[in-house]
Amino acid sequence: MSTKPTPPEITPLDYFAWFIQGFTITGRRTKRNSAHDYHVTCPHPDHQGERTPSLHVTLKDDRVLLKCFGGDGTCTRDDTEKARLLAAVYMTMGDLFVHDLDLDDAFRPTVGKPELRVVKATDPVVEPQPWPALQPLPDAMPAAPALTRDMLPRDLSGWVFDIAHRMQCAVDYPAVAAMVALATVVGRKVTIRPKEHDNWYVVPNLWAQIIGPPGVLKSPAVHAAFAPLYKMAADAREAAKQAVPAYEAAIAEYTLQQESLKRQMKSAVDKGEPTAGIKEQLAALRKPEEPSERRFLTNDSTIEKLGLLLVKNTNGLLIERSGWSTVCSR
Ligand SMILES: [Zn+2]
Repeated sequence: MSTKPTPPEITPLDYFAWFIQGFTITGRRTKRNSAHDYHVTCPHPDHQGERTPSLHVTLKDDRVLLKCFGGDGTCTRDDTEKARLLAAVYMTMGDLFVHDLDLDDAFRPTVGKPELRVVKATDPVVEPQPWPALQPLPDAMPAAPALTRDMLPRDLSGWVFDIAHRMQCAVDYPAVAAMVALATVVGRKVTIRPKEHDNWYVVPNLWAQIIGPPGVLKSPAVHAAFAPLYKMAADAREAAKQAVPAYEAAIAEYTLQQESLKRQMKSAVDKGEPTAGIKEQLAALRKPEEPSERRFLTNDSTIEKLGLLLVKNTNGLLIERSGWSTVCSR
């Protein structure tokens, strides 16, 4: 019986890794560009002492290609020079072809290092695998955990469960909407400081999405939970409207004061009198601020319009959208 070990089955990449090892164990610097492409310091006897890895060693199909870009350009000019180059790392021209490694053959001395082992290249060769047989999709939906009263703020839970009871809909719908409405009113006034001794703060931003088949009263449930918010929005609109006459009166007064001061200024300038006092009064005049409606929610804003709304409503806004298509189209 033969004691000769069975040569290991190796891929071209395995072989190439073994080939490259011939350079490393003889002290050459190697630079790996990929599993099939290395740059190494050239071992050619006429090209010694250079630290730049100018010899390109590339695996192409089942061949190893050598091309030296350093020295006087002759290291890999022809087979004679290539053979001289390979001899310096104890290899022959035959080693440029991928072949099984007969480990019994000591065709390459180990230069005082432990025996050469076939090393696995890091890029595995992936053989295409056939698709596994198709399986039907599992039809069992995992049960969603039930929403219970203690999951909601105490002051909201009675109201929210009452909405669900009166509508005979899932309590999740008004619960989610109520939490988002509450977050809208709180807005940026409450922040989270994740680090105790740090000024980093985060403004919580709630996103909610209600999913359900048609006819399960999603929209009515949401509208019921948004009702207080709608009321606040309507009140704010009314307040802004009420403030308009007073604003217009204040603007009239402001304009007249401005004109009067300008007249005084002109007269002082004409007479060559000091104007410092008038300038101070003019600078102190404050234009009345236009009453702006406090907005709580918007449902059809362009990004640009939303930006303007947020400038005036620094506490934040609720963006209400119905249907995923309207969300995804933005
Ligand atoms: Zn060279």
